[in-house]
Amino acid sequence: MTTFSDLQLNPKVQKAITEAGYETPTPIQEGAIPPALEGRDVLGIAQTGTGKTASFTLPMITMLARGRARARMPRSLVLCPTRELAAQVAENFDVYAKHVKLAKALLIGGVSFKEQEAAIDKGVDVLIATPGRLLDHFERGKLILNDVKVMVVDEADRMLDMGFIPDIERIFGLVPFTRQTLFFSATMAPEIERITNTFLSNPAKIEVARQSTTSDTIEQRLIEFKPTRRDMAAKQKRDMLRAAITAEGEAFNNAIIFCNRKVDVDIVAKSLKKHGLNAEPIHGDLDQSHRMRTLDGFRDGSITLLVASDVAARGLDIPNVSHVINYDVPSHAEDYVHRIGRTGRAGKTGVAITLSVPSDEKYLGAIEKLIENPIPRADAPMEVTDNRRPRDEAPSAEKPRRNRRGRGKPDEAQKAEDAPTLTEEPKVEAKSDDRPRRERGGRGGRGGGRNHDRGPRIVGMGEHMPDFIALSFDERRGGPARDFLEETDEVETPEAPEVEAEAGQEEKPKRRRTRKPKVEEAPSEEPKADAQEAETETPAEEEKPKRRRKKKVEEPAADEVAEPAPEEAEKPKRKRAPRKKKVEAEAEPESPPEPSTSEE
Ligand code: AMP
Repeated sequence: MTTFSDLQLNPKVQKAITEAGYETPTPIQEGAIPPALEGRDVLGIAQTGTGKTASFTLPMITMLARGRARARMPRSLVLCPTRELAAQVAENFDVYAKHVKLAKALLIGGVSFKEQEAAIDKGVDVLIATPGRLLDHFERGKLILNDVKVMVVDEADRMLDMGFIPDIERIFGLVPFTRQTLFFSATMAPEIERITNTFLSNPAKIEVARQSTTSDTIEQRLIEFKPTRRDMAAKQKRDMLRAAITAEGEAFNNAIIFCNRKVDVDIVAKSLKKHGLNAEPIHGDLDQSHRMRTLDGFRDGSITLLVASDVAARGLDIPNVSHVINYDVPSHAEDYVHRIGRTGRAGKTGVAITLSVPSDEKYLGAIEKLIENPIPRADAPMEVTDNRRPRDEAPSAEKPRRNRRGRGKPDEAQKAEDAPTLTEEPKVEAKSDDRPRRERGGRGGRGGGRNHDRGPRIVGMGEHMPDFIALSFDERRGGPARDFLEETDEVETPEAPEVEAEAGQEEKPKRRRTRKPKVEEAPSEEPKADAQEAETETPAEEEKPKRRRKKKVEEPAADEVAEPAPEEAEKPKRKRAPRKKKVEAEAEPESPPEPSTSEE
């Protein structure tokens, strides 16, 4: 068995490794360190969690221990796709180079240029950077890359995903032709293959684990459930998430919860917080210092639940994560492997729980094909029920109008509140029916159709009675006649969002004609400028602006609305700017429906 002492590392590096508690090199270290120390190019096909960071930092420190850097001329360069990864690599250098005198600088976006320039000016041995920021410095004339002797490209496949390959190619052209290249990627996509063929010279190729491999130390579970109603789906999923966390009991220490979309990262984190859980979001729209604080909090245990998007959490080495929860089934199968790889690291055990609804079937299939195993099914930790009357019984249980006093109450209380009580507010219940008109049996506004839903049958009047007699006054609003009202100038309520509305928030965010779809929720594909801005989001059908009929369901969730700033911007706005704004500003949470605001 190879030991670290067989690897010809600098004794000071060796000492740091021992102090870090490493006993034997991992396979990627065993394979990559010797050729790297010989000065050869290395192509490492390894995913994060395999110890690949040390496989390039240890030989680099050994090689750089001799010699000194000149001002503005770094001696080595490490390129990482995201700021977090770059910061993590920098931390690794600190650990492994603690007995060696080396200067390093971290060039990442979201941090002032000034400080970074000052560090470069002093002369650095190791420059760790995201491609965008590195090129910014270069273009400012503050950086000279002619003295780079070793260049590392880390997580090249992610660079490709994020559109950084042109930047990488450009940087390859700026460093000396004679440099040594250490290149790491979890996969070998054709584009990556092309880059390595172009820029690496006879590399030692070390492949340690296929990217489809999931660690044996991770216990995987799939919780499948079917939301009772489309407009309840998101709320029920959040309920399921909390139930899954609670069900873990003692085994639960902390978790990274992955969502496919940034907007859901925020919503889920807020919802968890609302229910008394210690959760924080992390995604590319949050500023760098905020993200660093959040990560530090998660690492030191002051934050228990990190709700994350793929890019923000990609490759992060956070030890002791007991659970990974896929709030959404990832739409890219490889992301499943990367996500669950955040737990069960370095020989520790971990649990990966995935929530799935019927529409995820296709993605699940792709994941199971990739990992060549079915994900073991687990019982759902709660029963999914619709707390409301089925539509057949009541024309609509959709919008029991209530005040906002229940906001922020604990889950059970919240759930109890969720159950509408017809006796409380019968008018509202009768008023709204979210079914498509044809399902309601309506044929225009007259209610003459035979199959419309009229509620309980009136006993004692015989089959011969004319239809209209069976219509109650309420049905003028909830029954077929409602169609007519909806098409014309049905009064809109300015009322605060209901707890039930929580469910519909992401599903049908907007409806009013005057409101634009939220720009930030739009699927963003591979932006370029910076890793964090380049967060890829999964396009979601539900994001499409909807027609206006289900107005109240689309209001933001009570728990979200109760929150301050960011989501405030997402509240549906009133349409007629000046007058409406005034009404809104004046409206108390419990205010009655706005008297005369009609749908435009
Ligand atoms: P990485 O793949 O570089 O993200 O590393 C994953 C984790 O493995 C990090 O927490 C490292 O500190 C740890 N690690 C790296 N090399 C070793 C080793 N030889 N023995 C034990 N742990 C290691």
